[in-house]
Amino acid sequence: MRAWEKNFRKVEPYVPGEQPVFDKMIKLNTNECPYPPTPMIREAMEGLESDRFRLYPDFKSTSLVEALAEYYGLKEEQVFVGVGSDDVLSVAFLTFFNSEKPILFPDITYSFYDVWADVYRIPYERPALDDNFRIRKEDYYKENGGIVIANPNAPTSIAEGLEFIEDILKHNQESVVIVDEAYVDFGATSAIALLEKYENLLVVQTFSKSRAMAGMRIGYAMGHPSLIQAMNDVKYSINSYTMNYPALQYGVCAVKDDAYFKECCGKIIATREKVAKELEELGFTCLPSSANFLFASHKSVPAKEIFAALREQNIFVRYFNKPRIDNYLRITIGTEEQMQIFIDFLKDYLG
Ligand SMILES: *Cc1c(COP(=O)(O)O)cnc(C)c1O
Repeated sequence: MRAWEKNFRKVEPYVPGEQPVFDKMIKLNTNECPYPPTPMIREAMEGLESDRFRLYPDFKSTSLVEALAEYYGLKEEQVFVGVGSDDVLSVAFLTFFNSEKPILFPDITYSFYDVWADVYRIPYERPALDDNFRIRKEDYYKENGGIVIANPNAPTSIAEGLEFIEDILKHNQESVVIVDEAYVDFGATSAIALLEKYENLLVVQTFSKSRAMAGMRIGYAMGHPSLIQAMNDVKYSINSYTMNYPALQYGVCAVKDDAYFKECCGKIIATREKVAKELEELGFTCLPSSANFLFASHKSVPAKEIFAALREQNIFVRYFNKPRIDNYLRITIGTEEQMQIFIDFLKDYLG
């Protein structure tokens, strides 16, 4: 080991789902939207001035913050934007979790939480989901340095209701509670309604899934102005210019075209319900999904084998070789046509 290497910050990084590139692949492995983003973006692209790239973007991201605040009926001081919700969550961890007490999040949840906790040296505990992969709210009644709940949870796809989130808030008035709502638009209830009552609540959402803009990298958080101010202070202490000029423009388009957004979410929900039924007929059990993916396990064929067989066909789903979930597949909902090919192959393969 070189002398300086002992001073490196050592981390076990998060591993994103693979991004394979094949002509005719069906990509159901990273929960992207199968439909394009709002056509308003095409128009906005034509109106972009490359000369504008000479200048730094608006470090306050005013246009996007305004659009989001208006859409959700909040004040601008209640909205923070970042480079995907990964950036937003990372800033939130760094800003709010500076206690000696451990932060709490489930044993099975978004696999970035423990990575941020490790890189920022935040102590944490991971209460186990119950046998039905539900969060046990009582596990979050003990003293803690903060709480992170993905709702719907990933990769389980299960959403809890507003009473459940409020119960956790009621029992935790002394630490920040982050609700990560990456999938909320696919049928769950947002905790935004609780913001007025709980100053320690931070709701985080993203343009990556329901607004079909994973490649543009836009995420946002909503909370009491004091939380948003604290996050901005930390952000401006690291990198003021996180949101680039095109992302700000396109982000505003996506917020404005609400009809298109709702139509896309509706289509994905309808396809999800249909695919869940078909999978069940093929011997799978799907957890009840409020997300744009299904978490499914087959009664006799191991998930790992199905994953590999699908891959051979250039159909990519996600498999986690982790305790408790290593017999499940996480299947992103694609277009009707893609899901038909997927189901047809499984019928053939399993039958
Ligand atoms: C996809 C996802 C995110 C991050 O998405 P971004 O692309 O960074 O906005 C955050 N949390 C959960 C639970 C996710 O599934």
